[in-house]
Amino acid sequence: MKPFTYERATSPAQAAAAVANEHKAKFIAGGTNLLDLMKIEVEAPEHLVDINGLGLDTIEPTPDGGLRIGALVRNTDLAADNRVRRDYALLTRALVAGASGQLRNKATTAGNLLQRTRCPYFYDTHQACNKRLPGSGCAALGGFSRSHAIVGVSSACIAVHPSDMAVAMRALDATVETVQPNGQTRRIPLAEFYKLPGATPHIENVLMPAELITAVTLPKPVGGTHIYHKVRDRASYAFALVSVAAIVQKDGTGRVALGGVAPMPWRTDAADAKLAEGAKAVTPVLLANARTTPQNAMKVALVERTLGAVITEARS
Ligand code: SF4
Repeated sequence: MKPFTYERATSPAQAAAAVANEHKAKFIAGGTNLLDLMKIEVEAPEHLVDINGLGLDTIEPTPDGGLRIGALVRNTDLAADNRVRRDYALLTRALVAGASGQLRNKATTAGNLLQRTRCPYFYDTHQACNKRLPGSGCAALGGFSRSHAIVGVSSACIAVHPSDMAVAMRALDATVETVQPNGQTRRIPLAEFYKLPGATPHIENVLMPAELITAVTLPKPVGGTHIYHKVRDRASYAFALVSVAAIVQKDGTGRVALGGVAPMPWRTDAADAKLAEGAKAVTPVLLANARTTPQNAMKVALVERTLGAVITEARS
């Protein structure tokens, strides 16, 4: 690990200013992804700004009947919150499907959204990876790509976003709140938060340099049956090959978002509109323009079958 300096931030705006003012600085909260990346020198920040003391760890009701989740609320606490379990069960189900109990105890809401891909070539500094080293190539293309993305990909990167929580939040129409180094705040719908890789896979979201996530808000509950179904190679502590987050109403309409298939939580209005027609109708719409490799082409059938199981469970 490369040496770095460290400070504890005193306010969200001061934290953002500190990251803006120091060379190669980063925020640190739970550190469950960043510390791993620093140990293998995929990340080498020269300065860490610790935001754990900022008090962004509460879950509060919003005036419009939703919830405001502080950026530092730990995944375990968010999953266990009675309001989340009652009104946003999809989120609890996605959270407990992720990582391990120990990791969920440390991992934060904002950090979960910002975690990096688990593409094995991204973590191997001897391999070409446009996301780690822009312009170096993509070892996954023509390499081991069974777990990689099938929609939203580019010829520069086919990595998936690894979060379960983000898939549920996408289905719930979450909004990200931030503060910038000059103190300005903004609200970014999660639907507009992530960027497709295109020619610049190292740019993963719309955050400005040193912009700090302070909270995630959920709109008022929409009811319905909430199901999160994750297909993976072992029963726990594994990333999704395919995951389906669905909210299904009594008449069969609703919303559906996918994990494990794209560089971001994957949801489209056109697929939502077809949900009542069943998995066979929804899948081609959700996976329109899919670009598969011989190793991950099975994800198309896996999506249809997982979605079919979810819809059947919701209707019963
Ligand atoms: Fe890197 Fe993306 Fe290619 Fe993986 S898929 S090696 S993260 S460029």
